Amino acid sequence: MKVYLVGAGPGDPGLITVKGLECIKKADVIIYDYLVSEDLLKEARPEAEIIYVGKQGSRHTLEQEEINQLLVEKAKEGKVVARLKGGDPYVFGRGGEEALYLVEKGIPFEEVPGITAAIAAPAYAGIPVTHRTYTSTLGMITGHEDPTKGGSALPWDKLATAVGTLIVYMGVKNLPYLVGELIKNGRPKDTPVAVIRWGTTIGQETVVGTLEDIVEKAKGLEPPAITVVGEVVRLRDKLNWFENRPLFGRTIVVTRARDQASDFARELEELGARVIEFPTIQIIDPEDFGPMDRAIKELDTFHWLVFTSVNGVESFFKRLFHLGGDARWLRGVKVCAIGPATAREVRRYSIKVDCQPSKYVAEEVLEELKRQEPAGLKGNRILMPRADIARSFLPEELQKLGAEVVELVAYRTVLAEAFSQKIPGSRKETLLEKLKKGEVDVVTFTSSSTVRNFVELVGKENLATLDGKVCFASIGPITTRTAQGLGLKITIEAKEYTIPGLVKAVKEGLGVRSSGV
Ligand code: SAH
Repeated sequence: MKVYLVGAGPGDPGLITVKGLECIKKADVIIYDYLVSEDLLKEARPEAEIIYVGKQGSRHTLEQEEINQLLVEKAKEGKVVARLKGGDPYVFGRGGEEALYLVEKGIPFEEVPGITAAIAAPAYAGIPVTHRTYTSTLGMITGHEDPTKGGSALPWDKLATAVGTLIVYMGVKNLPYLVGELIKNGRPKDTPVAVIRWGTTIGQETVVGTLEDIVEKAKGLEPPAITVVGEVVRLRDKLNWFENRPLFGRTIVVTRARDQASDFARELEELGARVIEFPTIQIIDPEDFGPMDRAIKELDTFHWLVFTSVNGVESFFKRLFHLGGDARWLRGVKVCAIGPATAREVRRYSIKVDCQPSKYVAEEVLEELKRQEPAGLKGNRILMPRADIARSFLPEELQKLGAEVVELVAYRTVLAEAFSQKIPGSRKETLLEKLKKGEVDVVTFTSSSTVRNFVELVGKENLATLDGKVCFASIGPITTRTAQGLGLKITIEAKEYTIPGLVKAVKEGLGVRSSGV
């Protein structure tokens, strides 16, 4: 038994320490606060008990005394407890109180420091908290005082001018009072001030002003926010890397199947976007494995194995392994992959890709196969493990050239119950509301079936109400055609028909819009 007091960092889940993450992974019980990123909880063991004890402003789920007792109680059950706190546990986090209580009760504990909001939020807002040219002194205080009580606990006469950079936790509600005290006690009125809300998260908001006008400018800004007072705030003009990322502040819907959404979502998030996963399709097994099993058992009779999707590759090999085979069963069969992602998936099974067209559509696969077989495709046996709803173009054209094509249903794409546990906002009704309110910038489509199912899930009758409120982006011309057939106007289309190509097109498409061209 042991209690780890773990600093979870300021908000961006990537800012936890390696040691902190290890604690989450091994804990039997996780007890966490309001400001802890819930993404981190996904790292917990599936059987771990997860308890929320958050205090949000004055609304307490559990009182501090109860939290202390809970820690002791769980530890005494012989459990490994990770007590997760926002930022650093010992910086305005009552970690010290919890540690003392544990010592008093004879419970072994360790403290794992975290990155505190006063350092990280300014960093993500483009403000280094010290800089040789501006200041070599730094102070961190709490602004959580009750100004009506009379008699401040803080020595404002000293604090106002003691340090170059003064950072105030929990001070937004008291901003007028704080600013008043600083000015009254000698800090120049034109001292730059930044208030950063939800720092290091995709929801980060920064307001910059001076002691004189920040109260007016930050009006309506709700906690949690941190206030930075000092000349270093000026550096934001040059160093604002986080909020200047191309997709910062944009909300983008990803309609791919859940299993495939993560790479795409990560690329968008890296550019600063807020991603809503709204899986419209679900990949399931074929109804009948018979034809696939027969083809796999006579693989050596085929000349070509043609993959037109990552899912096709995955389903094919899963079945091959299921039947007791391995890579050797592909001996003598040449492999073609439609695009780079499909090729990468093939190589994961230690299979070389013999043929990959430069453009990622069926028409180009045909051309490339013709090039590969200068003597003609006549008599070639070609195996194509595909989706149940794949286009018939390629097999038909190959047959016209005298090839013998065996098409297999390797997987089926069905309408997903578009329900993400991860993000409550991705439920169908909520998404539609967000779309109607213009809160979504782009909905992305990565295949014709994502378009069809999106229309079905959102409701054809609702499409007209979305006109002009949201952009629709497509991975390529085939998907675009499907969308247009269903009455969706595609304004962004990838030039290269891949996920990176689509990301690039979205970036460029939105850039154009925001500059008003
Ligand atoms: N232990 C925490 C601080 C807890 S006090 C730490 O080390 O960061 C809670 C206050 O921290 C909030 O009122 C706010 O002032 C600040 N804070 C925490 N997370 C923040 C964030 N992501 N952005 C801005 N301020 C934050």
